[in-house]
Amino acid sequence: METQIKDLKYWQARRAALAIEGRAFIDGMYRHARSHETFDCVSPGDATVLARVEACNAADVDDAVSAARRAFDANVWAGLNPRDRKATLLRWAALVREHADELALLETLDAGKPIADTTTVDVPGAAYCIEWFAEAIDKFGGEVAPADHHLVGLVTHEPIGVVAAVVPWNFPLLMAAWKFAPALAAGNSVVLKPSEKSPLTAIRVAQLALEAGIPAGVFNVLPGGGEAGKALALHGDVDCIAFTGSTQVGKQIMQYAGASNLKRVWLELGGKSPNIVLPDCPDLDRAAKTAADAIFYNMGEMCTAGSRLLVHRDIKDAFLDRLIDASRRYAPGNPLDPSTAMGAIIDQAQLDRVLGYIEAGRREATLLLGGSRAPAIEGGFYIEPTIFDTSHGDARIAREEIFGPVLSVITFDTLDEAVRVANASDYGLAAAVWTADLTTAHEVSRKLRAGTVWVNCYDEGGDMNFPFGGYRQSGNGRDKSLHALEKYTELKSTLIRLR
Ligand code: NAP
Ligand code: MG
Repeated sequence: METQIKDLKYWQARRAALAIEGRAFIDGMYRHARSHETFDCVSPGDATVLARVEACNAADVDDAVSAARRAFDANVWAGLNPRDRKATLLRWAALVREHADELALLETLDAGKPIADTTTVDVPGAAYCIEWFAEAIDKFGGEVAPADHHLVGLVTHEPIGVVAAVVPWNFPLLMAAWKFAPALAAGNSVVLKPSEKSPLTAIRVAQLALEAGIPAGVFNVLPGGGEAGKALALHGDVDCIAFTGSTQVGKQIMQYAGASNLKRVWLELGGKSPNIVLPDCPDLDRAAKTAADAIFYNMGEMCTAGSRLLVHRDIKDAFLDRLIDASRRYAPGNPLDPSTAMGAIIDQAQLDRVLGYIEAGRREATLLLGGSRAPAIEGGFYIEPTIFDTSHGDARIAREEIFGPVLSVITFDTLDEAVRVANASDYGLAAAVWTADLTTAHEVSRKLRAGTVWVNCYDEGGDMNFPFGGYRQSGNGRDKSLHALEKYTELKSTLIRLR
């Protein structure tokens, strides 16, 4: 059999033949929003309208939550033999893999991400996430707790009930999978609200869930804007809300939970992560290439972006030469072209926001690379990879999350200074340190206030085994790993008196 070369032409032909579903998925079927209102789903690559998508609001939230509640109360999902739930989720993951090209294409068109990334990271990563949590279902047990001799004490995990998942646009399917896979594995019903900037893959996988045999009502997808997210967060019959997005909205979600039914709240929020290069860095070339990847991968629209590069003064010049060289790979290009490493910024508003930070940077720092909008495709939203030398860490571009391809370089003279500057942030999502010294590596890792620390690497750990999440205002709880599964359960103590 001849294997097809998946070049730009291939993806353009697939695009021309693509049928896009824009309806909500509630109680096992696609349907319109009650208001019959829609919004334009725009492709950031060329600013064309891909589809009209249903704008769900509070009335649709009520419908989806009721469907999820009915399914949960009927025990059609949590009540299955764990092996059967596992098999169903594995079928779903297999269907995601079978439709990988279609899903990667949808993601690239909808979010401007390079096809080289959606085919290798987003879609296979989502399938793997579903598989991993499916496999965990029949291996995740409770405890028999030590108790007085006349008692048997059981500690068991039970599903929480109806879980709402509200997710952002930078990894639309993958961030959704990090929530719905453990939530479903634990036996909950899920109502997923994708960002209105990137709703298409979530809508599509709902059909695949049904095909895999996930019962109606167990998995629902509500496209819509912040209003739909707010209605979910305020809903009295949602038992848990899992949110990935900005710190600002995360704070609101906590308030909504407090103002309604005290639903469990799990937040994965922003970051301004430090990447520290010490003078004994074992491999300057690799460190420089990795530093470029850390900020420019996914257009810098990364919660873990290594957006603050802390370099020791002694190696600064040698390092920056290499960094600028490595950054040229990220010239913005057509997201559908497999050779493109940097695609489009999600929309006009985000483009303006990032360009605003670049303007601020020009006033408070020295521009080393980029600094302009790029004309990759007419109408599309592209920005050059941009690097600033910030003389001090208090510059605005060095403190605030930009969520775009803008790097701030900060120079330091001592290890203590590096750690102090690295930790001087409201965030604490990730951090990295480059050193050849084992003791320094361990000591600095311990001092860094972040949920993930990388030593001599960045963004490693595609495996599901590592919990992912933030200290401080980067959030609470963790995605990935068995710790994430626990987040979607209640703990029950059962005490049985024998005599
Ligand atoms: P966002 O504006 O906070 O939106 C996130 C989600 O919340 C979207 O679905 C959004 O809907 C919805 N939303 C907006 N306002 C809401 C409200 N008042 N109540 C309830 N829901 C509301 O964040 P974003 O711009 O999409 O994503 C970028 C942020 O996500 C960055 O800060 C980034 O660091 C963070 N992020 C964190 C992680 C992590 O794991 N820590 C991973 C990825 C991204 P609409 O988009 O439809 O308005
Ligand atoms: Mg879009």
